[in-house]
Amino acid sequence: MNINSFMPAEVISGKNCFNDNYDKLASLGKKCMIVTGGSSAEKCGAINDVKAALRKLSINYTVFNGITENPYTADCFRAGEEAREFGADFIIGIGGGSPLDASKAIAIYASNPELKHDDIYLRKYSCKPLPLVLIGTTSGTGSEVTGVSVLTNSNTGMKKSISGHDCYSQISYCDYTYTKTMPYSVTVSTALDAFAHGSESYFSEAANELSEIYALRSMKIVWEGLKYFYETKSLPDEELREKMYIGSLFGGLAINITGTCFPHTVGYILTEDYNIPHGRACAAFTPEYLKIAAENCPEKSDSLFKLLNADLDKITEVVTALADIKIKMTSDEIKNYGKRWTSGIKNFSRTPGNFTGETAEKILTKYIK
Ligand code: NAP
Ligand code: FE
Repeated sequence: MNINSFMPAEVISGKNCFNDNYDKLASLGKKCMIVTGGSSAEKCGAINDVKAALRKLSINYTVFNGITENPYTADCFRAGEEAREFGADFIIGIGGGSPLDASKAIAIYASNPELKHDDIYLRKYSCKPLPLVLIGTTSGTGSEVTGVSVLTNSNTGMKKSISGHDCYSQISYCDYTYTKTMPYSVTVSTALDAFAHGSESYFSEAANELSEIYALRSMKIVWEGLKYFYETKSLPDEELREKMYIGSLFGGLAINITGTCFPHTVGYILTEDYNIPHGRACAAFTPEYLKIAAENCPEKSDSLFKLLNADLDKITEVVTALADIKIKMTSDEIKNYGKRWTSGIKNFSRTPGNFTGETAEKILTKYIK
């Protein structure tokens, strides 16, 4: 039994939490870079709030708005150079998981000019990253509270994460009202991601008492949302939006202790090669993961089903419908993916049972072929 954990970010949550607490930025410096994706930071109002706050605090800023979904190392590298040239003292990331994860990498590149873009995975550099502030606009990844940044290697096109004590924000503002402009598709996909985090963490071989509490709390909340989306096919009301954001943060706190399991690793290929959004891609494998978990950890599984008031069949029905994966792969393509998973895959060894690359190939054949 243990509750080993490390999560040093200051989390400020709730409606208007940024506008009510932006004065904390004053201690971070006089110049900053704001990092965003395409247009959502404008649409949801977050960037206007940030710019107004920075003006009031007399902090100069520059904006880098070139972060795409599943952010590329080369873009983060370029933004890091710009931040350095601008003389930024800190970075503010606004967005879903993509701009937030990118900001973690940008903070590292900015203070380490010798670092080449794909060298970031080596995790060897001399200077501490710039201080980082994160403002979430989706309710899925929990990146606000994890020491993880998932990047797409611009050289290989493959998603790979970096993690460590230097990948946390200093302050994360979590105002669910910024998530209100998410369209239905993003709302559903990010909710599926949060549910994948809760379930993968709960049954992980790396789970401890604290991660289990976080994971169960997350799944209890997020399952309510998934059922609602499945039954109504409509956007949540304000109350459910707020809950979904908090549910996603509990999911983040859970994976921050345990990491994720096989659905995330296998899901990456659906994103890389078939353009399926991250949450749906991982959730494609949530039902199979829960089946494996039920076989290997029957007692834990039963308590989860009781808590959710749903059995494996019901969860499979809802998650499969929402993930909505329609992909065909040939046996050769599946074999080829298998080459990625020959040994040392942490997400496989954390999965209950003896999960190997061969198991992953079998699952792809069952679900995707
Ligand atoms: P995302 O990739 O950041 O954004 C998805 C889409 O949603 C984009 O088109 C974005 O538009 C839009 N969007 C974001 N917020 C919006 C809002 N409030 N209103 C309207 N549209 C909005 O989505 P995500 O699912 O949050 O992040 C996925 C990434 O996070 C993946 O790369 C995944 O691997 C990573 N991830 C990280 C962790 C971690 O611990 N760090 C955990 C799980 C997943 P714009 O381009 O205009 O912003
Ligand atoms: Fe995820």
